[in-house]
Amino acid sequence: MKTVAIIAHNGKKAEMVQFLNNHRESLQAKNIKLIATGTTGAKTESAGFEVEKLLSGPLGGDAQIASRIAEGKVDMVIFFRDPLDKHPHEPDIFMLMRLCDVHDIPLATNPASARLLMQAF
Ligand code: PGA
Repeated sequence: MKTVAIIAHNGKKAEMVQFLNNHRESLQAKNIKLIATGTTGAKTESAGFEVEKLLSGPLGGDAQIASRIAEGKVDMVIFFRDPLDKHPHEPDIFMLMRLCDVHDIPLATNPASARLLMQAF
């Protein structure tokens, strides 16, 4: 089983749900386990997916996902960032992306790259 971490900033949550809906079959066929920051996870659950919800991003959810990456427990990250908004937890966001690079974990920050990664996964 592979684990994919999903995170979407508020302006991008609808795009995340749409992305997951578009890949529902492939997520099932590839036996992918989803983990998510709190609010992203709640929206994902409402769309009918099974997902492990961590804390909300601003309360430490990104940091929790970063820690799982450091522990080798995440195989891919889909992080739809909102480049037009400010985020109080910016240091956590950078930490998460940095740890993807440190541990060579595929990271998609927009739907176009996430689509390509999912095809290859
Ligand atoms: P959220 O966190 O899913 O709890 O909204 C995402 C984020 O802002 O990093």
